[in-house]
Amino acid sequence: MKIGIVGTGMVGSAAGYAMALLGVGTEIVLVDANPALALAQAQDIAHATPFAATVGVRAGDYADLEGAAVVIIAAGVSQKPGESRLALLERNVEVFKTVISGVMQAAPDAILLIATNPLDVMTFAAQRISGLPPERVIGSGTILDTARLRHLLGDHLGIAPKSVHAYVLGEHGDSEVAVWSSAMAGSVPIVSFAEQIGRPLDQAARALIADQVRGAAYTIIEGKGATWYGIGAGLARIVRAIIDNERTVLSVSQVNDDIEGVKDVALSLPRIVGRTGIIANLMPELDADERAALKHSAEVIAGFSSKLKF
Ligand code: ADP
Repeated sequence: MKIGIVGTGMVGSAAGYAMALLGVGTEIVLVDANPALALAQAQDIAHATPFAATVGVRAGDYADLEGAAVVIIAAGVSQKPGESRLALLERNVEVFKTVISGVMQAAPDAILLIATNPLDVMTFAAQRISGLPPERVIGSGTILDTARLRHLLGDHLGIAPKSVHAYVLGEHGDSEVAVWSSAMAGSVPIVSFAEQIGRPLDQAARALIADQVRGAAYTIIEGKGATWYGIGAGLARIVRAIIDNERTVLSVSQVNDDIEGVKDVALSLPRIVGRTGIIANLMPELDADERAALKHSAEVIAGFSSKLKF
């Protein structure tokens, strides 16, 4: 199955590399406004495939995306000195207009998987520009924040992260919400589990873990300028769930009509992901504080997306 990637900088190329190593798809096509970069990334990733899966990797232009099942969009421009967040967003919306028109012409049946930040606002922009049904425009959202939360909780409880069923919801960003009230370890509510094994998760421990999840990207950016491996693997995970029609529950972003009274906003909730995109949206049980935090997160995102013009 063909997978396209438009924008082959750090994030796009890391997604391609992860898919090649994990054997996600059979053909990966890389497209970038800088064709020399796309070619170099394609060759570099292709040279890893003899040690990994049988996946063809090549550079191309939009026409080469024909028949792609999924197209990852990781194209974007970076902030100029002194540029406001809104001005940067407006420039990225212009990039998306070009990119999405190229993708839709070549691969009208593809599912769009958005990776450009600010993730939720760009997912909203991609849905509005493409006119596709919201369930076919998926943002990587909090998939990585959720993975970081599970990893830290696994460490705290001394269990495998795979036994931790907990989500980070809302914005992929500062207003994200770690949901404790419905979090489970195995099938035991997580706070009770923690007490039973003598590693309590009191308010302070929960706040510390949520802060570490929220701050993880900042720590990485401080050390190496940007993040790409984690999100690259997260994108590969979402593509696999789509093309294998897994119907896996993942915390990803999508435009919803109404979240806690906030209209037309893209943010992350647990969602069932399969061949047609997002098959269903789930709202976990939230306590009053979590509900208020999710509403706040929705308002932060909507505050930006409502200012954009398409
Ligand atoms: P990140 O760290 O988010 O991957 P980069 O700056 O490394 O950011 O990558 C962004 C990529 O998007 C660059 O390779 C850039 O050439 C590409 N890009 C920017 N504008 C367009 C466009 N209109 N069409 C295709 N690719 C684009």
